Amino acid sequence: MRVTMIGGGYVGLVSGACFAEFGMEVTIVEADERKLGALREGRIPIFEPGLDRLVSENVAAGRLSFTGDMDEGLADAEVVFIAVGTPTRRGDGHADLTYVYQAAQQVARKLKNYAVIVTKSTVPVGTGRRVAEIVRETRPDLDFDVASNPEFLREGNAIGDFMRPDRVVIGVESDRAADILRSLYRPLFLIETPIIVTSIETAELTKYAANSFLAMKVTFINEVADLCERVGADVHDVARGMGLDGRIGRKFLHPGPGFGGSCFPKDTLAMARIGQDAGAPQRLVETVVTVNDARKSTMARRVILACGGSVRGKRIAVWGLTFKPETDDMRDAPSIPIVSRLVEDGAELHVFDPEGMEQARPHLPPQVIYTTDPIEAATGADALVIVTEWNLFRAVAPARLKALMRGSVIVDLRNIFDPAAIRAAGFAYHAIGRALPPVEEAARRGAA
Ligand code: NAD
Repeated sequence: MRVTMIGGGYVGLVSGACFAEFGMEVTIVEADERKLGALREGRIPIFEPGLDRLVSENVAAGRLSFTGDMDEGLADAEVVFIAVGTPTRRGDGHADLTYVYQAAQQVARKLKNYAVIVTKSTVPVGTGRRVAEIVRETRPDLDFDVASNPEFLREGNAIGDFMRPDRVVIGVESDRAADILRSLYRPLFLIETPIIVTSIETAELTKYAANSFLAMKVTFINEVADLCERVGADVHDVARGMGLDGRIGRKFLHPGPGFGGSCFPKDTLAMARIGQDAGAPQRLVETVVTVNDARKSTMARRVILACGGSVRGKRIAVWGLTFKPETDDMRDAPSIPIVSRLVEDGAELHVFDPEGMEQARPHLPPQVIYTTDPIEAATGADALVIVTEWNLFRAVAPARLKALMRGSVIVDLRNIFDPAAIRAAGFAYHAIGRALPPVEEAARRGAA
């Protein structure tokens, strides 16, 4: 089957390469010349484990190609996926559908024969219908169907998620489109992946509901973590005690500095707006947005308090900048407000991230000093802040860290260290959702 993917970003590139791995003939149309140039030269413009190999093997096998030309990309396409960005629209929190509608129009102009036009981008309810209208207005003669096939992959584990998904959701209006999409996903029948075939509206909403629920779970445990700190409980034990209940589940119960990334912030905001517009306010989701925004902006304050009430003139090391490990994505990363506030308050920031340094630069103040590894970042630092839980940080021995830092404050926003071991090495260790030892708590209260 001939598949065209409009957009070669995280979702388009991963799903295009995976469909090629399923045996389909896939062409990815990418508008950004820089990205396209890299892809054509065999370079992967994003960091995603395993993607370089998957792409190069499928290109070599002749099943995967890249173009910037819609004519070439759409020749004989049977299924066209729209996988372009749907960022938050400036000013009102709605999803910006400019790229989706532009792509729909371009596809309509160039298609020669019947095809299913599928939105893979995360889009508000009603977008599929609007895409159908655009295609009909642009090409009244064209025989086509529209469909919705939201993507649930996670950056950092995207290939595994695509190849072994918990489910595939397909929103269609015709049996013909349903059959084509089912046959596209046939390789997943072997592993008994549930395929949910539903209306277009239901598929569109399912994606927002799923992401908003996960964001709510994260926000819930973050607030429980705050409570744990006040009452002397340990959030990890609470999360384990809760999560082992099959009705709750253990995933997404890890406390931290607030969720970020390319999806949760914009999708929760869009879900809240969809609810308001439809006259069915999503009050829980609205609260999640507010609580999470507030949390991200108060994380720097934790660091300031841990440093005795001021960071002016202090040297602070930051480990991890991306919104989570195993990605280079900096969109809405909690590191951005944290680093910016600490710089504003007069600290000297020495930062390190294994994959996101280049991506971080446009988001962070120019005074930030970029280092080549976690050791260099921490050397001579008064305080160390752990913002993203990359595995290599766990490997640094507390005693070694103590010897190279000037000060002894660690603010661990991901709880990567064993509190007993790190305190035994002489650190004043501040974790999330874990009570401070009484003496340090008294000092913290004094600074506040
Ligand atoms: P992205 O910004 O990484 O990629 C989008 C790509 O589309 C860009 O490379 C852009 O140049 C290209 N593009 C835009 N208009 C085009 C056009 N007319 N023709 C050709 N190329 C065009 O975005 P992403 O992270 O891949 O997200 C895409 C969609 O998938 C969003 O709606 C997002 O919410 C959703 N999604 C993302 C993830 C994720 O983890 N990133 C997961 C699930 C769903």
